[in-house]
Amino acid sequence: MVAEVIVDIAHSEVDKIFDYICGEDVQAGMRVTVPFARSVTTGFVMAVKEKSSLPPEKLKRVLRVLDELPALNRECLSLAEKLVRRYRCPRALVLRLFLPAEMRTGKVSERTKTVVSFEGDIALIPPRAKRQRELAEYLQQHGEAESAFLREEFGSALKALEERGMLRLEKRRVFRDPYERLKKDAPLRPLTPAQEAAVERIENTSKTVTLIHGVTGSGKTEIYLTLIAHALKAERSAVFLVPEISLTPQMFAQLRARFGKSCAILHSGLSAGERFDEWERLRSGEAKIAIGARSAVFAPLENIGVIVIDEEHDGSYSSESSPRYNTFDIAYLRAKYNGCKLVLGSATPSVETYRRAKEGEFELITLPERINRRPMPEVQLVDMRREVKRGNPSPFSSVLRERLENCLKKGDQAILFLNRRGYSQTVICRDCGYVAKCEYCDVSLTYHSEENCLKCHYCGTRYHMLSACPQCGGVHINYVGTGTQRVERELKKLYPEARILRMDNDTTSGKEGHLKILQRFAAKEADILVGTQMVAKGHDFPNVTLVGILDADMSLHFPDYRSGERTFQLVTQVAGRSGRAENRGEVVLQTYDPDNYILRFAASYDYEGFYEHEVGMRAAMAFPPFARIVRVMVTAEDDKLALAALKAVYEKLQRVYAKEAEKFLFFNKMHAPVKRIQNKFRYQVLMRLTDGSPLPRIYEIAAEENKKEVLVYVEENPGNLS
Ligand code: ADP
Ligand code: ZN
Repeated sequence: MVAEVIVDIAHSEVDKIFDYICGEDVQAGMRVTVPFARSVTTGFVMAVKEKSSLPPEKLKRVLRVLDELPALNRECLSLAEKLVRRYRCPRALVLRLFLPAEMRTGKVSERTKTVVSFEGDIALIPPRAKRQRELAEYLQQHGEAESAFLREEFGSALKALEERGMLRLEKRRVFRDPYERLKKDAPLRPLTPAQEAAVERIENTSKTVTLIHGVTGSGKTEIYLTLIAHALKAERSAVFLVPEISLTPQMFAQLRARFGKSCAILHSGLSAGERFDEWERLRSGEAKIAIGARSAVFAPLENIGVIVIDEEHDGSYSSESSPRYNTFDIAYLRAKYNGCKLVLGSATPSVETYRRAKEGEFELITLPERINRRPMPEVQLVDMRREVKRGNPSPFSSVLRERLENCLKKGDQAILFLNRRGYSQTVICRDCGYVAKCEYCDVSLTYHSEENCLKCHYCGTRYHMLSACPQCGGVHINYVGTGTQRVERELKKLYPEARILRMDNDTTSGKEGHLKILQRFAAKEADILVGTQMVAKGHDFPNVTLVGILDADMSLHFPDYRSGERTFQLVTQVAGRSGRAENRGEVVLQTYDPDNYILRFAASYDYEGFYEHEVGMRAAMAFPPFARIVRVMVTAEDDKLALAALKAVYEKLQRVYAKEAEKFLFFNKMHAPVKRIQNKFRYQVLMRLTDGSPLPRIYEIAAEENKKEVLVYVEENPGNLS
């Protein structure tokens, strides 16, 4: 037999099929080692055939077969092919998506145990060998036992009895169980009528995709779990995707309690060995439910019965390394292949997803109420300009301080949120709230200190730095920029006895850094949790009755067409942390721009209003979903090389542009907003397209120009345009 092998080297020059002679045991989807270019390398078997077109004497042999079962099933192999065509990247890079990283590096081994049983005659053991007799009796009584246990109990008698040839030793595979210690019961609650109706509609609609738009606490999770249970009952499998940050031990415990060993959890917080074992249990079919962040969409499952993407709007569903796939696209392909439903859920769907649902492409289910009609927390908008006028320069308004003191007095917990995204600061007039914006794009400008000017990150236009506010003439121009650390310090000054936890990128290092902080907060080891958007996601803290959003403006004026959408999502999500249990929650939302429509809609939980306004604006500005933003990035350590590559890329793209100019709303080359990251110079060709037809050629051009020293890649509607 002959195996068609792709070697596991991510380079376009070796990105082709090589034939190797192999045995009958080799199947498509298995990994093998093969001799390659005077060395030995791992490869993926894409197919097995009778004969090669090359003469047999030219073929080398497969050295070793690494898998007993194919690592990639037929569906995964065909999916990989589609991704290679779509993203034009080396096959090895795509194939790697389907394996846990630790499998490639070969650092994990299977964990085994040795099971011992007795198969001799006790009468033949000399009476003076008392311990050996006892061991034999023990084994006769218990059938079998683990050798490690026996060695502990019976010491050298084990070895002695083995030497008599009376023991049978058998090595067995054991699976590490990362959540063994988490035991929790999950009462099977009857579904509410709304939940029941949702399940029925999802299962009976002719549409593949359903969007559940349900407010925080409306019981979406229970709907997902029911759908998964139904899939299992029909002897099918399931994929449950959540943002990385929501992968908390509490959630695992809940799933484990409901589904037991049927679920496998793929999570970066696990040890390499644990993750490998969980993956292996899915491949072997022992586990049927894959739970994890975006990479779990590649789980080695057969016959998938339902795929769930929770918090579908979350930015972590877009990959930021090659291939830059979107989780929805992969999930959709898998749903189509398996003939199953794809369910998206969110309290704040992305504008694009909601539009597709509204237009009838997706089924749309709306859950406007919390379970048990628990009220949504009341949101109070606080005008920070007035605080300034009153001479309060601190990050806390008097309203917030009053509520905070109340909350601490009652022994409740509070979350203070502040959004410190971005690398530079927004310029804002302290007197009237004016924010500098680009003339040509509806995005705010960013202050660049090295040139002392303001820039638009969308079109590259530069503006003079303001010396006075063009709106009110005031001179109190400010760089907005209170960070979490300053907030923590001021809190300590104000409330020396309060226990404070901080959660941001600086405090969550280590693989379980953020989990530890959340666990400590859940255990009431702190009264106040201060943090960035990390605190916003799906956590359920019943004692939190106050949420303070310190500076809603910061994300609002992030230079990105999606800043409004993100702000709405953030405010809604953070607000949803308050008052989840019996006690009514409150939210204090501080802003310099209290008339801003996004904040107004968020404060009244008016998603529909927000959506209508936002979508109208996007249409008028020709931003997604009415156009696609595509950028080709060129980065290199050597600035000259980068510029030369940019020129080459741009010239080729210009030919595409010339042919289909009517499809380009914008086309230009420029510095990337951040000119240098990690010692690499960054340039971009920025495009806005009316449709995706020029994309294959754009990907091809990037692949052609992508070299060892110069990285060239394509991003579609990137989550981050820095
Ligand atoms: P969401 O995922 O929409 O934010 P959850 O699924 O977390 O909402 O549900 C909110 C709360 O309601 C949780 O505390 C959950 O345990 C509870 N809950 C969900 N469904 C039911 C039900 N059918 N009966 C009783 N309580 C429920
Ligand atoms: Zn602009």
